[in-house]
Amino acid sequence: MVEGVKGIIFLGPPGAGKGTQAKKMANFLNYSFISTGDILREEVLKQTELGNLAKSYMEKGKLVPDEIMLRIIEKNLQDSKTGFILDGFPRTLPQAKGLDDILKKNNLVIEKVFYLNSSEKEIVKRLSSRRVCPECKKVYNLITDPPEKDEECDLCNVKLIKRADDEEDVIKTRLEVYKKDTEPLLKYYREKIIEIEGDASPEDVFEKIKSFLKEDDYYKKKN
Ligand code: AMP
Repeated sequence: MVEGVKGIIFLGPPGAGKGTQAKKMANFLNYSFISTGDILREEVLKQTELGNLAKSYMEKGKLVPDEIMLRIIEKNLQDSKTGFILDGFPRTLPQAKGLDDILKKNNLVIEKVFYLNSSEKEIVKRLSSRRVCPECKKVYNLITDPPEKDEECDLCNVKLIKRADDEEDVIKTRLEVYKKDTEPLLKYYREKIIEIEGDASPEDVFEKIKSFLKEDDYYKKKN
């Protein structure tokens, strides 16, 4: 039997630390890192047709339509040879069901779903103090992980920016959208879900996540 390429999904509200943890995990396991938010932001920057369309949803904190997201994910999954980590996808039930079809077609399987939980108070605090380098895209937090110089990237020496959707009114919409459209996925994935308390430090959260991989073959091979 040919074993399918394995993947891990990171679920959770905006600001729970999914991107940070998913990136760490992808480096650690040498898996492809697929962040739909990052892919869309690249398209917005390049002002492609997709980018211009996505921008109108993103700046309001709304979700980009499912058919578009499924096309993006199918294209990106085809490049994952060793394994893949999904950050920010799926976000709706139709996306999760569409993903199942794509996985079947491409002999891929979802092994685990990490659900990073976080309190609303912590989320708002984190998102409103998040800053990003416009050049290298490194993410900082002015309270917990500030740059060395005032709001300047340590690596590129350019001024950090605040994502347009990290403004307080948009954060509110994103949280509402999360509750309505994404939270139902916790039930959909109930057999694969591992809940992690996301309010701890990024290092502690990562150690906790790794502890759930210890029994897995790919983890053993690496360590
Ligand atoms: P993120 O960086 O994951 O917080 O995503 C930023 C924004 O990109 C979201 O608020 C949505 O507007 C859009 N987006 C990212 N991923 C998806 C998705 N799976 N479905 C729909 N919209 C998405």
